[in-house]
Amino acid sequence: MNETQAKERIKVLREKTEYYAQKYYDEDKPEISDFEYDMMMLELRTLEAKYPQFMDKNSLTQKVGGHVKEGFQKVTHEVPLQSLQDVFSLEEVEEFDQRMREKAKENGIDEVKYVVETKIDGLSAALEYEQGQFVRGATRGNGLVGEDVTENLKTVKTIPMQIKDKINITVRGEVFISKKDFEEMNKKREEKGEELFANARNAAAGSLRQLDSNITKTRPLDIYIFNVQKIEGKNFNSHFEELEYLEKQGFNVNPVKIPCSTIEEVKKAIEKIGEMREELTFGIDGAVVKVDNLKFREILGSTVKVPRWAVAYKYPPERKETILKDIVCQVGRTGVITPMAILEPVKVAGSTISKTTLHNEDFIKEKDLKIGDTVIIQKAGDVIPEIVEVVKSKRTGKEKNFAMPNKCPVCGADAVREEGEAAIRCTGIECPAKLFRNLVHFVSREAMNIDGLGENIIQELLDRNLIKNIADIYSLTFEDIASLKKNGKKFARKSNKQYQ
Ligand SMILES: [Zn+2]
Repeated sequence: MNETQAKERIKVLREKTEYYAQKYYDEDKPEISDFEYDMMMLELRTLEAKYPQFMDKNSLTQKVGGHVKEGFQKVTHEVPLQSLQDVFSLEEVEEFDQRMREKAKENGIDEVKYVVETKIDGLSAALEYEQGQFVRGATRGNGLVGEDVTENLKTVKTIPMQIKDKINITVRGEVFISKKDFEEMNKKREEKGEELFANARNAAAGSLRQLDSNITKTRPLDIYIFNVQKIEGKNFNSHFEELEYLEKQGFNVNPVKIPCSTIEEVKKAIEKIGEMREELTFGIDGAVVKVDNLKFREILGSTVKVPRWAVAYKYPPERKETILKDIVCQVGRTGVITPMAILEPVKVAGSTISKTTLHNEDFIKEKDLKIGDTVIIQKAGDVIPEIVEVVKSKRTGKEKNFAMPNKCPVCGADAVREEGEAAIRCTGIECPAKLFRNLVHFVSREAMNIDGLGENIIQELLDRNLIKNIADIYSLTFEDIASLKKNGKKFARKSNKQYQ
């Protein structure tokens, strides 16, 4: 890569990270996995380090993502809620340890100890207590200014309104929803036909950042406290002491905190957390390695964005080898025929995977998949498992090529791939696709010319069982249509006169 290419790539990465950060932090609707986002940030960080002439203080590598949502009071954090430096390998953790030991030597500190903790996948918040009484709580926001969510935090049962000592203290914690509560919550939403949350983190963030605390009250929010931001009239030597104090005060402290004296112990702790990850009742997105000695932390200080005394280790997505036993085709409601991989069952990231989507014909061609192949599958957190690649060295010559069918496996009608589309669709009228196709035609310009009622809206109406036939379109209520995800409100306003 030359300088011009690097400049261009940096520009592209900045735009992308800005876009995805907004989806993640401000709209609580992530469009890509955390891992993909982390990889983008890593590439950007690497390029900026290599080409410092293109450094920009507005780059997301230099600041914390997230803004204050309209409607909330702003809270300026007296002590910033910093983010952490991510690392993706144990070598980088070793380098961190090296840096810490060198700095310790320079400053006459004999001992370097660490605490390794789970990095809870939720939303960071600061809780302020005056004379032991909870007075204010705020989201992290951009790290310097957050949103006042005091009333919402008061609905979180594990936040003590009164702590033991009558002191002034500000603590930091991570608001989250447990795996079990998240599943139940989404199940209920599904039953009610409400939009599902993408993951527990979004559910927690969306619930905490509600303008109406009555809504927050119905959400199973929990919190783990992991830091003293500020305290008056007390001094601690170590972070571990702080955590013990917080526990005695009645706080719900992060339950996984492993004190370590050597880099070997640190690496073991990281591995241990990785192994227990699936069994934990809450979701994590890594392990944090923190210097324990608080005086040493002060000496180390911070960069503009992150403290120098900690790193966040991000676990790679788990990969496993298995056999692609067969490829079968499923016909969706819209007639799209989707190839599915039937796999020799294998346990990846805590769940047993026996099948996964192959998306479409192009995906199969691009990966050069054959039935009988040994494949690598990958799963990261709550992301759908995917086939990463074929282990071609394990081919025996007995593998079979797969071709998409030219007949629909459900109704036997012709299946065609329309120009410009990756999907193959069934053309049959006696197929599950029938109703959808009929409806699309019915509302089209050629037929009833119902303005604004597009394919997306019809799909959603069908998915949510709001219509079962053509006549049902006329019994839809304004509320039905306004509740749609796809331009529902706009269409409802337009069609209000048409239907009532
Ligand atoms: Zn069909």
